[in-house]
Amino acid sequence: MRKFSVFAVAREALRGNKGWEPQWASPEPRASYDVIIVGGGGHGLGAAYYLAKEHGITNIAVLEKGWIGGGNTGRNTTIIRSNYLYEESMNIYEHSLKMWENLSQDLNYNVMFSPRGVLMLSHNIHDKQSFQRHVNANRLYGIDNEWLTPEQAKAYCPPLNISQNSRYPINGAALQRRGGVARHDAVAWGYARAASDRGVHIIQNCEVLGIRRNTDGSVSGVETNRGFIGAKKIGVSASGHSSVIMNMADVRVPLQSSPLQALVSEPMKPIVPCVVMSNAVHAYISQSDKGEFVIGAGTDQYNSYSQTGGLQIITHTLDAICELFPMFRRVKMMRQWGGVTDNTIDRAPIQSKTPVQNLFINAGWGTGGFKATPGSAHLFAHLIARGEPHALAAGFTLDRFRTGRLIDEAAAAAVAH
Ligand SMILES: Cc1cc2nc3c(=O)[nH]c(=O)nc-3n(C[C@H](O)[C@H](O)[C@H](O)COP(=O)(O)OP(=O)(O)OC[C@H]3O[C@@H](n4cnc5c(N)ncnc54)[C@H](O)[C@@H]3O)c2cc1C
Repeated sequence: MRKFSVFAVAREALRGNKGWEPQWASPEPRASYDVIIVGGGGHGLGAAYYLAKEHGITNIAVLEKGWIGGGNTGRNTTIIRSNYLYEESMNIYEHSLKMWENLSQDLNYNVMFSPRGVLMLSHNIHDKQSFQRHVNANRLYGIDNEWLTPEQAKAYCPPLNISQNSRYPINGAALQRRGGVARHDAVAWGYARAASDRGVHIIQNCEVLGIRRNTDGSVSGVETNRGFIGAKKIGVSASGHSSVIMNMADVRVPLQSSPLQALVSEPMKPIVPCVVMSNAVHAYISQSDKGEFVIGAGTDQYNSYSQTGGLQIITHTLDAICELFPMFRRVKMMRQWGGVTDNTIDRAPIQSKTPVQNLFINAGWGTGGFKATPGSAHLFAHLIARGEPHALAAGFTLDRFRTGRLIDEAAAAAVAH
């Protein structure tokens, strides 16, 4: 794999960074591949990388209808944590968190993982009971999570308003110190670069329009706006459009697509040292390395494929942010956008074989799948290569919607960012 060296960085610094080569190749599609991944987000690119790296399969194409990372991978607020309630979720998110800790080294690309701590504010007795249950469950499994008093929370995050006269008084907080943030588009670029170096074809502006089947029902390839491309296996990792693509193979999946919005402020001096989440009011905030406050909201409560969203959702979020941090009231917001999230009824993902032979799905990560990117991609590669789920992903197959054995993180946390 190509390496970034300190000498190259110094050389390019002196010549205006004009000498860098493209970081991944942009080849014409072949007639057919062993594996086609639909969706050039972090999960799809990562799966291609691990297929090549760990399973020796390199005749792979990642087909992306727009540009890589242009979906939710490049639209999210980058919160990374593993303090979920249920065993299956803890396992898969902790697997991912451990991979984040070495991802920059593995990819030789700085994804700017910053474990600055994720502070989840409790505002009422329900929050308190629920978070303390999470803390206890996590600690039983060896995952760090701790309960803080309001004063301890303020000591960790000084700009917090812990006055009990505020609209959303804080009665404690759960803190996962190993949680944090990363640079989202660097994740897509890092995986693309590392996958391309191993021979994976990354084909942008290539929209999948149909799935073709053999007479025995198994997949034979995809129809695209660049013609038919054959494939022995197809992995769908297309977030909010996963159900649209599965419909092309007549597979109905239990996913609903809804917009989720985020916004950033003008840059400020460093003041928010960690990620702060308030599930009860659906507001969360962190500060980017550029100084912008990165603010996320709750989902718009209607189904849509729109990458915008309702104004009332973000104004409600900003109300809450100003209550939690009164000193931010005069900060200007600079940009706002939305992403199309793919939500299951239990807010847990789907990683599964499907009724169509050699068609696999990795979706349902909804509002919280950025943190899962390395772990999910790693396990999805296993599923595609071996045809059976990895033990860590075995609970997330489509079977749970038939048996009713849901992994109800929706009831556990109400929010999954
Ligand atoms: C505003 C917002 C905030 C969020 N905040 C967080 C957070 O703080 N923490 C967290 O963990 N998660 C968060 N998430 C969720 C997270 O972003 C996603 O779960 C994750 O990024 C999904 O990655 P992906 O690779 O599966 O999907 P994507 O990055 O969306 O990639 C899927 C790709 O498929 C492509 N595609 C779709 N249809 C086709 C087609 N027909 N042919 C070819 N390509 C196609 C799309 O163009 C897209 O690029 C947030 C999401 C949003 C929208």
